[in-house]
Amino acid sequence: MTETGCDYDVLVIGGGPAGATMSTFLADRGRGVAVIEKDVHPRFHIGESLLPLSMPVFERLGVVDKVADIGMIKYGAEFVSPWHRKTQTYYFGGALDKAYPYAYQVKREDLDRILIDNAADKGVAVSQGSRVVDAHRHGGRWDVAVEDRDGGRRSLTARYLVDASGRDTFMGKKLGIKQRNPNHNSAAIFSHFENAERLGGIDEGNISVFWFDHGWFWFIPFRDGSVSVGAVCWPDYLKTRNTDVDSFLLETIQKCPPLAERLRDARMTMPARATGNFSYQADRIFGDGYMLLGDAYAFVDPVFSSGVHIALNSATHATEVVEAALREDPELADIQARYEERIHQALEDFSWFIYRITQPAMRRMFLKPRNVLRVKEAILSLLAGDLFRDTPVRWRLQLFKAFYAWTYLIHLPSNIAAKRRRQRAVALAAEAG
Ligand SMILES: Cc1cc2nc3c(=O)[nH]c(=O)nc-3n(C[C@H](O)[C@H](O)[C@H](O)COP(=O)(O)OP(=O)(O)OC[C@H]3O[C@@H](n4cnc5c(N)ncnc54)[C@H](O)[C@@H]3O)c2cc1C
Repeated sequence: MTETGCDYDVLVIGGGPAGATMSTFLADRGRGVAVIEKDVHPRFHIGESLLPLSMPVFERLGVVDKVADIGMIKYGAEFVSPWHRKTQTYYFGGALDKAYPYAYQVKREDLDRILIDNAADKGVAVSQGSRVVDAHRHGGRWDVAVEDRDGGRRSLTARYLVDASGRDTFMGKKLGIKQRNPNHNSAAIFSHFENAERLGGIDEGNISVFWFDHGWFWFIPFRDGSVSVGAVCWPDYLKTRNTDVDSFLLETIQKCPPLAERLRDARMTMPARATGNFSYQADRIFGDGYMLLGDAYAFVDPVFSSGVHIALNSATHATEVVEAALREDPELADIQARYEERIHQALEDFSWFIYRITQPAMRRMFLKPRNVLRVKEAILSLLAGDLFRDTPVRWRLQLFKAFYAWTYLIHLPSNIAAKRRRQRAVALAAEAG
């Protein structure tokens, strides 16, 4: 019970990376915090490739060694194009700031367990197997209804509510403020495999991105020798499925010969899963006594492995906002506005590239990078997730955009055809609801 008569200062819905990180930082400040998580860790989750600039967050949380124990070191990202018969590897060590040359590939059941156990160790009251089913604000506090594993119900009170419920978007749905992205509409099918052919030496842990006619694939190697493979496709392609999900994933892999080659002796180790229409954003981040964090606020696309990174960094910066709200800081509106600007800028930086990654002009530039005015280093900084600090990345990204416009114009017919293909796919998906 807090001084104000509430059970907690802050109640966090969801114990994924966003919720576990935020609750830990608030507990470090002496706040009474509860996390309510509907699943029981360890549990499967998608989102297995991390970015180097997440490492400082792991340092602050005090979990670097534990993450290193479960992770496969990832020094870079390989892009493979069947049309150019060429691969290009970007090494994070070549970014503008050379201090963070690697990240990790992780099984999320392992990473998320480390983060939630760390939260509990730091004094957060963690309830697993309990789902938040409703929340109401009155008299300056929240009444939160929680349903436990045994079906029992209880009510908890808190001064501030953080929605970190991921793609469930608890508050976004409750308030009707979640908007699907009309310009970007893809879906994914994925599974884990053993006995795949992996890269050698320091490249073994790199993520590989393979383009193919219907979108792109990820190939993520884990520490135990297995790999995660997923296809991110336009929804119209996924609608052609007339077999079970496992067979469809295997058939789709055959449409990308360089990937099929790496998987020729591989065996699927878990049933394939599918997820659709994953791009969305809520109309607002903050309201009276609450905020939306990580995927609960927005998600664009997995192509640059930015999801967990945005969740961790949002949580780090949002701690200041929640602190300001709890101490009723007269500057709260300004603090919120600064946070909002930072998050929107990072989402915008990633989105610009994400929306164009299947355009021929972008493929061409990714496969033949030039370091004019250190633009290639800036792209590496983007790939490393260096978008939450004041590194001189942005003006160079603007320069890259100018080069992109030029490349687009030079290869106009193929770029317009690719754009039309994407617009048709999005329109078809929208028609189908
Ligand atoms: C196909 C695909 C591939 C991806 N690949 C990558 C990748 O390679 N790298 C990367 O960084 N990101 C990737 N992502 C994104 C990544 O999965 C998310 O961005 C990341 O997990 C967000 O973290 P979070 O804490 O906000 O949400 P989550 O990790 O989803 O955590 C939310 C938690 O809230 C819990 N919850 C939900 N509702 C309730 C409730 N009512 N009560 C209690 N608990 C609740 C859930 O059980 C969950 O544990 C991918 C996403 C997709 C769709």
